[in-house]
Amino acid sequence: MSQRFQNDVAVVTGGGAGIGAATCRRLAREGAHVVAVDWDGESAEETVDAIHRDGGPESLAIETDVSDESAVAEMADRVDERFGAVDALVNNAGIRVDPKPVTEADEASWDRVLDVNLKGTAFCSKHLVPLIDDGSGGAVVNVASVGAGWARENWAQYDATKGGIVSMTHDMACDHADQDIRVNAVSPGWVITEYHVGDRTGQAAREFVDEKTTRGGSDENILERAAKPDELAAAICFLASDEASFLTGVNVPVDGGASVI
Ligand code: NAD
Repeated sequence: MSQRFQNDVAVVTGGGAGIGAATCRRLAREGAHVVAVDWDGESAEETVDAIHRDGGPESLAIETDVSDESAVAEMADRVDERFGAVDALVNNAGIRVDPKPVTEADEASWDRVLDVNLKGTAFCSKHLVPLIDDGSGGAVVNVASVGAGWARENWAQYDATKGGIVSMTHDMACDHADQDIRVNAVSPGWVITEYHVGDRTGQAAREFVDEKTTRGGSDENILERAAKPDELAAAICFLASDEASFLTGVNVPVDGGASVI
């Protein structure tokens, strides 16, 4: 595998599971010191243990709730103390809330989904972007969703946060261009993670993942299947790398063509 992130420092929120864990593993395989941030500290530790077991670069797990600004500020201080600078920030942590129309959504669920998805992305950017050296070609990748651009029943709360992330991406790209920091987003379609596997274990879990990620496993996109987390990690790492040096402010759908049908 190429070493596009040799000696870089990459911070990935929601690094304990799913797309975030796959992104941490890929960044480390490509040479980065990874900081896996997750409010589930054990899962972040597991990601980092796996990196070290594979002989990857020295990496760090930090238990942090991205929706808590003072906790995010402390996390950024720890990153600064340990590594001194950041080259890539992946704002991936996100939650879903029970799907319902706006007319039925209560204030508590609005607060929860806005706090984690939208304000979490803002807080991590606020405290970690200043650790990216001016002129070093650093990058931020925000994880949105195809839902940001779709009209669909009952997803207004989640989709509103993801639409906000896409808008924030456009404007952050302008705000940080003179520091040579690029800011882009990816919008995943359906990606099979531990969340979808649910209670299934062993052979049943493997068969479920195989079925959904093989052509015929989904009717929502051109490829007619769900993605594996590694396929999102590949796109995120491309945007974070110097190979994407002329891409900023864009939202890349990684959705098997779902957004064009
Ligand atoms: P996941 O639930 O498998 O993993 C999310 C990780 O984020 C978990 O480890 C969780 O503990 C962590 N997390 C959640 N809230 C947090 C908080 N407040 N602070 C710190 N960590 C927190 O999710 P996933 O499917 O890998 O999704 C990752 C991102 O991709 C999310 O932003 C999600 O909205 C987006 N996305 C996923 C899909 C999909 O089909 N899987 C589709 C579109 C968008």
